[in-house]
Amino acid sequence: MTSSSDERLDARRDDRLGEALLERLRAALPEGAVVTAVDAIAERSSDRSGVLGQTGALAVVRPRTTAEVAAVLALANETRTPVVPQGALTGLAGAANAVEGAILLDLGRLDRILAIDATERTAVVQPGVIVADLQQTVAAQGLFYAPDPASAEWATVGGTIATNAGGMRALKYGVTRDSVRSLEVVLADGTVVRTRPDTVKGVASLDLTALVIGSEGTLAVVTEATLQLRPAPGIPRGVAATFADVPSALAAANAVMTSGSLPTTLELLDDVALGAIRAWAPDLGLPEEANAWVLAVSDAADGDEELSRFEAVLQANGAITVERAADAETLDKLLDARRALNPALRELRGASLNGDVAVPLGRLGEFFARLTALASERGVEISVAGHVGDGNLHPVVAFDGDDPEQVAAAHRAHDEILGLAQAVGGTMTGEHGVGVEKLPGLGGELSERVRDLQLGIKAVFDPRGILNPGKKFG
Ligand SMILES: Cc1cc2nc3c(=O)[nH]c(=O)nc-3n(C[C@H](O)[C@H](O)[C@H](O)COP(=O)(O)OP(=O)(O)OC[C@H]3O[C@@H](n4cnc5c(N)ncnc54)[C@H](O)[C@@H]3O)c2cc1C
Repeated sequence: MTSSSDERLDARRDDRLGEALLERLRAALPEGAVVTAVDAIAERSSDRSGVLGQTGALAVVRPRTTAEVAAVLALANETRTPVVPQGALTGLAGAANAVEGAILLDLGRLDRILAIDATERTAVVQPGVIVADLQQTVAAQGLFYAPDPASAEWATVGGTIATNAGGMRALKYGVTRDSVRSLEVVLADGTVVRTRPDTVKGVASLDLTALVIGSEGTLAVVTEATLQLRPAPGIPRGVAATFADVPSALAAANAVMTSGSLPTTLELLDDVALGAIRAWAPDLGLPEEANAWVLAVSDAADGDEELSRFEAVLQANGAITVERAADAETLDKLLDARRALNPALRELRGASLNGDVAVPLGRLGEFFARLTALASERGVEISVAGHVGDGNLHPVVAFDGDDPEQVAAAHRAHDEILGLAQAVGGTMTGEHGVGVEKLPGLGGELSERVRDLQLGIKAVFDPRGILNPGKKFG
């Protein structure tokens, strides 16, 4: 028999197995939960990274309860069918992208806020709740959910837990991990477990919550989370400053960090990012001409004092202009401008590759110098922006996706940026995750022993390797 007839036989057998599984899934779940329409599958096959998911996923499956998620995983495990957990697909690393033959497990219908407890300072939520909805709901009760990725209007709580999302308030309040008390998860074989009690303190076991956070859907499916709330902070206000160049802006940002006050948010935009965002959203109040821009935000109760301190530090460290965003509306516009970074840069040349490095603050200047050299060596334009206060920069390579030379140069430069961050003692991904996009950089970051430990943990959680295969670990 020829190899092409072997392939045809394999394909027919796979089809039959797929059909049998679909029948069992339909029997286990309510009507309409299993969707096999080609366009519905295509719609759920790629996230916002620009990396396309594989074609040929089996179905989109939309459970509404933990028990339904458990039923799906038990069947998938028995039949060794890959499962890709999915939130809102706003990820920027291809982590939720489709895998051939997989169940695309859309958790968006588990979307209820189950409890808000002011005494415990917790919210118990399902994974499909949108982050901004949670923020607003708890704010109405005088409470505060700190994680605030720029995608908060769309991203789900489950997705932000699975990527350990950061965002603009991470500098003061930490990343998503710092606001999670405990998780209910469904393991690969369909078993439902809670990782720990909901108490603030608790050291009875290894920290399974921490392992699942940031695991990008490769260890377990999050079906409920008990989240840490805080008392509402003061009304945020900000100071925006322009600089002659990025190195002086970086130095001034570091001076803010040693000023004795911790800003809630400390962001940087370079001239390319400023120009792209101004073109994308002209009314958001960004300066007309600047080579670099820094925004420092305070939500402290004594915000005025803190803002004056930031102003003085920025002025003393080379700022050309310093302006106060003293009311909520002006600051919101500036934050919206910063949030528009990704779509604006993509619009600039038609396509973009988003970097997500995190480097020690003391080496930001060195990283930037190496990045500038790389851009000129490779003949590509690399814009720099990001959460400069915690060293998490987003170097973005914008390019024309129809020009094969530009595509090749952009991808090469993007891969090299991963190594640049590692070379200055940093990481190739601060908050977006590895997904499939950053797999080429793993070797430069993890020793063989650490990688073996991680693969061992993966094997304990998911012995048959059904959860999000090909992601995170390579
Ligand atoms: C405009 C824009 C701005 C952004 N800004 C930021 C930012 O400031 N900071 C930041 O950190 N990120 C940012 N991101 C990236 C992205 O929004 C976050 O990574 C977000 O956490 C993804 O959430 P999601 O619901 O879209 O998840 P998806 O993209 O659907 O999935 C992301 C990962 O989570 C897994 N997953 C999803 N739900 C579950 C679950 N219930 N259980 C287990 N695994 C699950 C998936 O398998 C995948 O690995 C931005 C993205 C965009 C498009």
